[in-house]
Amino acid sequence: MRVYELAEDLKIPTKELIWFLNKEGIKVKNHMSTLDKDTVELIKEVITMDKKKKGTENKPPLKVLEINKLPNLKELSSQLKISLSEILQKIMQFGTITSIDKEIPVNILQHLVKEYGYKIKFSVKIKNSINFQKKDEIVKSISKPPIITIIGHVDHGKTTLLDSIRKTNVTKEEVGGITQRIGAYQIKIDNKKIVFIDTPGHEAFTTMRARGVKATDIAVLVVAADDGVMPQTIEAINHAKAANVPIIVAINKIDKSNTNIEKLKKDLSKYGLVSEEWGGDTLMVEISALQNKGIKKLLEAISLQAEMLELKANPNTPAKGIILETKLDKKRGIIGSVLVQDGSLKVGNYFITGLSYGKIRSLTNDKGKNIKEAGPSSPVEVVGFYKMPQAGDYFQVVPDDKLAKIIINEREDEERNKIIEKSSKVSLDNLFLEIKEGNLDKLKLILKTDFQGSLDALQEAIKKLKIENETVKIDIIHAGVGNITETDVMLASASDAIIIGFNIRPDLNIQKIAKSEKVNIRLYKIIYDLIDEIKAALKGYLKPKIEEYVCGQAEIREIYKIPKVGTIAGSYVLNGKISKNDNIRVIRDGKLIYEGKAASLKRFKEDAREVNAGFECGIGIEKFNDIKLKDILEFYTFREINDKKIN
Ligand code: GDP
Repeated sequence: MRVYELAEDLKIPTKELIWFLNKEGIKVKNHMSTLDKDTVELIKEVITMDKKKKGTENKPPLKVLEINKLPNLKELSSQLKISLSEILQKIMQFGTITSIDKEIPVNILQHLVKEYGYKIKFSVKIKNSINFQKKDEIVKSISKPPIITIIGHVDHGKTTLLDSIRKTNVTKEEVGGITQRIGAYQIKIDNKKIVFIDTPGHEAFTTMRARGVKATDIAVLVVAADDGVMPQTIEAINHAKAANVPIIVAINKIDKSNTNIEKLKKDLSKYGLVSEEWGGDTLMVEISALQNKGIKKLLEAISLQAEMLELKANPNTPAKGIILETKLDKKRGIIGSVLVQDGSLKVGNYFITGLSYGKIRSLTNDKGKNIKEAGPSSPVEVVGFYKMPQAGDYFQVVPDDKLAKIIINEREDEERNKIIEKSSKVSLDNLFLEIKEGNLDKLKLILKTDFQGSLDALQEAIKKLKIENETVKIDIIHAGVGNITETDVMLASASDAIIIGFNIRPDLNIQKIAKSEKVNIRLYKIIYDLIDEIKAALKGYLKPKIEEYVCGQAEIREIYKIPKVGTIAGSYVLNGKISKNDNIRVIRDGKLIYEGKAASLKRFKEDAREVNAGFECGIGIEKFNDIKLKDILEFYTFREINDKKIN
């Protein structure tokens, strides 16, 4: 993030922010200087706190926590009613580790309870016995090597670049151990270390970010000079920007004859990447990954960018990191590659990651060497997992085995609850009951419509409905134009939402998936029908007595224009049984085109009352001739169903 952007965000003048940053020891040149995410977060926190301090009237006063005896982690967790897992993560921010049964040191306790809105009141007895730790015992953070991810369009040379960096920066002694990949490697340039994540791609920020982990400090965007900016180049830029990761551009394949670097730079500038020579601040380096040209320059640019970011870590705290890769080895058991992001990981440490935990039995670095300890930004192979971890999971050292097990149990319970919640699905029919029983305070909807116009109208109508009804919130979790897809059904299933389709028809496969996932799909043609039904359902008045029943579907395979009669659809019955008295709807690419009645149904020129699946027939539609090949004719009728009691 640039300084001026942060100033805008915080609604303070840029000059004031620069003054403040310099006062805090964060060096910035001007309003265009880039700030890394952690600094941005920190500054935001400090300034908002400052603002709050000034306007204390909105700030809730701290609650008092009476302390007669220093609590241990477990006691504090039950006293504050906050999960151990959460408290532990907070404690780690202050860089100290305790055993679950040991008293929490008082300086940490003070920081910790403040986070949860408390201040401590010590009893006199305890005050005399407490050993108040001195401030200078807290170790300062030091600079750490940057972690780099390579991104870009397919075939632009990402893998070649990673290989070339790896090969040219390995000393002779290291070559032997270098064959095995562990998900990342560390190189040295002018005595400064840089870490590269081994698999190219923006999953490094997208998937891991979804789990709340920041995996990378800088992105190197590879763009082939002969091919230029391509769709995945743009996608990669957007993903890096969304994750707030600065980009360095590597213009690759400059050995080729058909390159156009000027055009490439111009195209990149449209996406906010302007090279320094053009007055911007994006570092761009021309390279040939294949011929090893410009690689040193690229590494220098990375070092420079890293210096500007002032990346910091504290090697004296317990390690935190991410799982990069996992594998099962016949001899050694479960092996996971861990990228240590902060702190130091040591043989003998207990740890938790996702639903797995363990004790470090051995550590191997990216050069294949056994080590006892791994500091910030080191990729290491770890042996000692009790259960298979998942790549992308957050990894954290914990004080002891006991705490690891308790936290994993806590997480497993949460996971189990999620699954139980999943099996009870919401539908408009059971809505009132769910609300009444207190199981539901939010009605989640996924909206799919035929056109943008209808989507806007639908959203508008639902918004109004929200205002009228205060007991239950209506939350549109996804809205889009087009037919209902499997992804929509899975999203609805995962989040207990109802799918609302407007002027569309899901195909049979989707209907099947929805049925097995117990996802309620409601289809409408008139907005007010939908609004009325939701209203009725919220009040418990919805008692459907009549249900639509799809008898069969036919696909149009030929079109005959018959003078005086009209257009006849030469069709093949795909499923069910169609009959002349049914209603018909015409569906084209999942969209509802027309609804009406059959005018004629024939088999081999003979009138037919019914036609079964697997047979061909000719279908005429009353007052409708505008059919097309591949249109689906859905035959449906209504049938009475048992009155469902809702309240
Ligand atoms: P990725 O899909 O981005 O990982 O691309 P690769 O690294 O697999 O490279 C795709 C193709 O481009 C391969 O045939 C490489 O040999 C070739 N290539 C990569 N870098 C260069 C380069 O600097 N010059 C030339 N001429 N070809 C390159």
